[in-house]
Amino acid sequence: MIKILRSTEQEECRMRILFFDTKTYDKESFEKQTGNYPGIEIDYLKTDLAPKTAPLAKGYDAVCAFVSSDVGSETMDALHEAGVRLVLMRCAGFNNVDLEKAAEYGIRVMRVPGYSPEAVAEHAMALALAANRRIHKAYVKVRENDFSLGGLMGMNFYQKTAGIVGTGKIGAAMAKICRGFGMKVIAYDVYQNPELADFVTYVTLDELLASSDLISLHCPLMDNTYHLINKDTIAKMKDGVILVNTSRGGLVKTNDLIDGIRARKFFGVGLDVYEEETKNVFEDRSDEILEHSTTARLLSFPNVMITSHQGFFTEEALAAISQTTLDNAVAFEKGEITGNEVTERQ
Ligand code: NAD
Repeated sequence: MIKILRSTEQEECRMRILFFDTKTYDKESFEKQTGNYPGIEIDYLKTDLAPKTAPLAKGYDAVCAFVSSDVGSETMDALHEAGVRLVLMRCAGFNNVDLEKAAEYGIRVMRVPGYSPEAVAEHAMALALAANRRIHKAYVKVRENDFSLGGLMGMNFYQKTAGIVGTGKIGAAMAKICRGFGMKVIAYDVYQNPELADFVTYVTLDELLASSDLISLHCPLMDNTYHLINKDTIAKMKDGVILVNTSRGGLVKTNDLIDGIRARKFFGVGLDVYEEETKNVFEDRSDEILEHSTTARLLSFPNVMITSHQGFFTEEALAAISQTTLDNAVAFEKGEITGNEVTERQ
């Protein structure tokens, strides 16, 4: 349970935070909140956190980092050397953080475990609809004064079956959206979410693959979910299925997906995440010759819609991220445990 600390509780807090990899929208959303946190001072850097940039944190109590930051062993050494006591991750993920080193140095690591599941779920449905109704093609056609309908035919979602893989916070929000579309909703998860009991039927993964017209992935990337979608699981899917992935790229074996698309297995594919996205995410690389052809190969298909990890990117989600991050800083300074601490045992 996240405890929200308001300004009176924060008055005694004096903390200096160095913010890495600042994008304009990060600064805007944090600056909107800082008035409520008088004890906190933030300096913003464009450069990302890495072993070479970590020494810049000398004199700061905390650094604020993101999923893309290098918070590995060498960075931890440098942060310890610089006197940093707290790493504030402004995201849910922490697989880029050396927690063992952090524990060794007594550096606390805190994160934002959930911010707006609806933001990601609504984007998953946006991708499903766009891939289904070929919105990406239609937009370009109309701009070119091509008002013909060739290649744009979709299918109704109404009365079709949505298969949700992983019914945690985001999967549950997606299940509710699909119900709103008049779809039958089935799900596969290692745990059943009681909140969904009145309208979701839990089935095995094989049953879900065989029965779903729309499959949306919302489980985490772990050893047992890596390449969950591969040539064998694709073969079990209904012909003409729509696949959406807003979770993690590694859930889908891209080359098998490409083979499946070529074999006309999919009516549409919507991806907010994909393997090899790391170098691309949130960067303008329009002037570069890219090292991988995966994105280009996927984009060459008319029924594939790709966005660049923007599922979380709504005003509400950014506000929740900045508020929780600042609350984490205050709680740390007050010696309080919020549940947002990340430890090795997680
Ligand atoms: P969550 O922890 O609330 O839910 C994950 C669900 O997956 C849980 O119900 C869990 O039981 C289930 N699960 C675990 N292992 C499974 C397996 N082997 N098969 C099926 N289900 C399994 O997480 P969440 O907040 O709903 O986030 C889901 C995923 O969305 C995250 O893992 C993250 O990768 C991704 N995400 C993407 C964005 C984006 O911008 N695109 C933003 C936030 C999160």
